[in-house]
Amino acid sequence: MTTAKFQRNTPQRKVILAELRKTHSHPTATELYEIVRERLPKISLGTVYRNLELLTEMGAIRKLEILGKEARFDGDLSKHYHVRCVRCSRVDDLVGVHPEQTTEESGDVNGWKILERRVEFVGICPECQHLGETGVN
Ligand SMILES: [Zn+2]
Ligand SMILES: [Zn+2]
Repeated sequence: MTTAKFQRNTPQRKVILAELRKTHSHPTATELYEIVRERLPKISLGTVYRNLELLTEMGAIRKLEILGKEARFDGDLSKHYHVRCVRCSRVDDLVGVHPEQTTEESGDVNGWKILERRVEFVGICPECQHLGETGVN
């Protein structure tokens, strides 16, 4: 079955991929669905989900697994860190902090072959900080 599902890029999948690459907001499937629906009014949320999973398996996009939260998706495959806001769950690229090359990243560690190092940054985004100051939040 795995060969059949990768066979062709459907027009829907192309739109989903194009829209995801356009945005830097790391949308959830639901958020991306709202964006894609403007171009494809008949698309369903299930279709968006399925295609995002497929694109992740194909290595065309990255899935950001966030514990206890809805997964977010990133069309930017370059190596970069993310920072997540503890208040509104917004995820930004951490600009200016580069994943440095270390021996652990390429070699074997305790018998494991390390593929990728994931570091999670969490914080409070500028907007939420501002809300805090004005006493709204
Ligand atoms: Zn925030
Ligand atoms: Zn990103």
